[in-house]
Amino acid sequence: KKWVYTFGNGAAEGRAGDVAILGGKGANLAEMASLGLPVPPGLTIITDACALYHKNGRDLPDDLKLQVMAGLHGMEIVTGKTFGGSQSPLLISVRSGARASMPGMMDTVLNLGLNDRTVEALGHDAGDARFAWDSYRRFIQMYADVVMGLDHEMFEEILEDEKGRLGHEYDTDMSAVEWQHVVSLYKKLIEDELGEAFPQDCHVQLWGAIGAVFASWTNHRAVTYRHLHNIPGDWGTAVNVQAMVFGNLGSSSATGVAFTRNPSTGEAELYGEFLVNAQGEDVVAGIRTPQSITEAARLASGSDKPSMEKLMPEAFSEFLAICKRLETHYRDMQDLEFTIERGKLWMLQTRSGKRTTRAAMKIAVDMVEEGLISQDEAVCRIEPSSLDQLLHPTIDPGTSRPIIGSGLPASPGAATGEIVFTAEEAVAAEAEGRRVILVRIETSPEDIHGMHAAEGILTTRGGMTSHAAVVARGMGIPCVTGAGSMRVDMRNRVLIGVGCMLKRGDVITIDGSSGRVLKGEVPMTQPELSGDFGKLMEWADKLRRMTVRTNADTPADARAARAFGAEGIGLCRTEHMFFEGDRIHVMREMILAESEKGRRAALDELLPMQRSDFTELFQIMHGLPVTIRLLDPPLHEFLPKTDGEIVEVAAAMGMPQTVFRQRLDALHEFNPMLGHRGCRLAISYPEIAEMQARAIFEAAVAAARITGAPVVPEIMVPLVGLRSELDYVTAVIDGVAEAVAKETGMEIEYLTGTMIELPRAALRAHVIAEAAEFFSFGTNDLTQTTFGISRDDAARFINTYQRKGIIERDPFISLDFDGVGELIRIAAERGRQTRPELKLGICGEHGGDPASIHFCENADLDYVSCSPFRVPIARLAAAQATL
Ligand code: ADP
Ligand code: MG
Ligand code: MG
Repeated sequence: KKWVYTFGNGAAEGRAGDVAILGGKGANLAEMASLGLPVPPGLTIITDACALYHKNGRDLPDDLKLQVMAGLHGMEIVTGKTFGGSQSPLLISVRSGARASMPGMMDTVLNLGLNDRTVEALGHDAGDARFAWDSYRRFIQMYADVVMGLDHEMFEEILEDEKGRLGHEYDTDMSAVEWQHVVSLYKKLIEDELGEAFPQDCHVQLWGAIGAVFASWTNHRAVTYRHLHNIPGDWGTAVNVQAMVFGNLGSSSATGVAFTRNPSTGEAELYGEFLVNAQGEDVVAGIRTPQSITEAARLASGSDKPSMEKLMPEAFSEFLAICKRLETHYRDMQDLEFTIERGKLWMLQTRSGKRTTRAAMKIAVDMVEEGLISQDEAVCRIEPSSLDQLLHPTIDPGTSRPIIGSGLPASPGAATGEIVFTAEEAVAAEAEGRRVILVRIETSPEDIHGMHAAEGILTTRGGMTSHAAVVARGMGIPCVTGAGSMRVDMRNRVLIGVGCMLKRGDVITIDGSSGRVLKGEVPMTQPELSGDFGKLMEWADKLRRMTVRTNADTPADARAARAFGAEGIGLCRTEHMFFEGDRIHVMREMILAESEKGRRAALDELLPMQRSDFTELFQIMHGLPVTIRLLDPPLHEFLPKTDGEIVEVAAAMGMPQTVFRQRLDALHEFNPMLGHRGCRLAISYPEIAEMQARAIFEAAVAAARITGAPVVPEIMVPLVGLRSELDYVTAVIDGVAEAVAKETGMEIEYLTGTMIELPRAALRAHVIAEAAEFFSFGTNDLTQTTFGISRDDAARFINTYQRKGIIERDPFISLDFDGVGELIRIAAERGRQTRPELKLGICGEHGGDPASIHFCENADLDYVSCSPFRVPIARLAAAQATL
């Protein structure tokens, strides 16, 4: 079996495409070598060897060892040096390199092959003893740390002591003899700590380092990192063994890192730093202040240290040409590592550079304009969920404000405001023009008006799909939920955070993108939907097949969503309208009425309110489709809960308290989410559906007359399991439509359909489709009913499930393709069998999740619907899903 791939001297056995076997670093070293770029020769041991190493009890097969020795010999020939030789010794680096870049893996060992004998030869060869001893001490420290497991801090202490004793400020001030002394102290430290000597045999060193790379694949840090980033454990890492080049060979030598474009702004300018007379990670380790690579950057920074451009003009211009070449070759911004040895440039690494979303946008658009990539490729270069970064204010990363708690990043964006503890306080504060953060243990539908009024929401309980989280995302308000390390003391009206106790009016900042809570006001960066964003979205829209609608309950939502490019409303939850202002009182009267007559009286009052809401929504949407869902939640959600509220409401309604409480008890349900809700309400109380249908049709007539754009409302019946349920409610709607048409003299076109949110509905879709003109997959409830997991209680154990590997992803955030997805596929297929023109969409939280959107594309749905602030994300994800 071929275990080893060699590279160098203008050729390579591997290619950039061989990432799976060579790892990212090895594949790109091979690619650079075969492009003829100056790459020190080396070899890569393939990733498969990693698993074998662990299976074999931390040993490697003989044929692999032979291939490594052969490769090493090849390096000796190219360099004219000998590994372990007493003359011209070949030194090597041993570098890990997994398929995906993985911090937390083993650190690189440089200068391997040095011992008490070869160090003299190296110094002699280079004519620089200081350099040789500097390299040796670096090697011992790295090897002891990485292979022998001795903390590098102990070595740094020794060095600091020596520098202090000698009165040196920088490492570069040390002389050969002084380094030699440090080496002897290092070797003594190893013997004292481990009772064994530092290995002098170069081959022992080599296999020790290779083994350490493979072993580091399973260390705690690496395993955690893989877990967090969904990297499979069986991928393994490759090992790269490469001839050393030296940036620490005096003032004509240097080492550096660079990006071919600015990774934070995307500006097409070389961006990087280097250090003269330094090696390896010195630049990033902050040993000395690095210098700018370009003269332009030096001028901009005001530094008086010369740039590489000025200091090493030849190496610089070669480097510049290589940057161009690599960028053109890879057709992406590259992140590079290089070393200059006595004026000669060597390339040590290239990879696609990490960048901010803003930079990613600019780079993608620029590269299209430069003819480097196509528009479709540009669309694919942006991670849809990263758009969140652009659509909301973000905390200035440099802030030094103390973090006083953290929770789940439930709704992105950052917000600053005074603490309030109730919805009423929030509304009052907003009226006075003050900005507030609503802080609650958890929120409920009664808090809606307060949530609207707040800049941000913080709860100490609840998960990513808790009420606060869902509503905040819908409103585009930053929200942190489940901040378990904080406590709300409602009795004393204080918020207790890490090391502080805050009262009403104290200012905090929440970051709904990271889940952090900070004390005081924090500087923010405002979103800017600049030209690049617009262009990319335009390209995405050209590609997209599915339409993107929004879930919008209020005119404000609808306006925001249209600004973000929504092409209709996929879900308007009418119940949210009943919490606005005084309406809740009328709603309660309706619910608590003892007779149909009483209910109708209250409904008559609600009718004009709903009608005006719908009229406004239709006007804003200007002829775009609008799906309105009939009343869905169990009725008691609208009723008072605390004793104080009960007394108040009973008094306001002029009901004796005992009677009032009896009515409340009668409405109590053991399991309301599976109780008297959805179409079951419309069947028990058809007059509610009648009122809502009337409000919709009258509004449609009114809006059409105002805007001149025809309105085709889509009326959606929730929680249908039986066709007969849908038939019953549809008949009510049709009856109202006819009546309104007669009264207004205007024929209204409309659709009736249902949400598919029960497994039975999915399975009986062919029958239900006989009565439905559209299906909208209500995947929140469908996930809940398919798993039998209450979404309000899931947060308590889903995390544990994920940690223990029982499930990979939270099915309430990213659609469960296998189970819930299967039901969707079945329903889509059976529904279309009955009615080929059946309109299919999704309106659950998943409608804004890129992976779920991908699924919807494959299931051939017509549209996805998501909260307003996710509309751009959905547009981009839907475009990418077509490729
Ligand atoms: P990481 O994956 O942490 O970036 P690398 O394997 O890239 O680790 O090595 C870290 C640094 O060591 C590189 O930036 C480079 O400067 C230096 N280095 C690695 N191999 C060599 C070599 N053969 N010659 C000179 N420097 C090297
Ligand atoms: Mg590197
Ligand atoms: Mg539902």
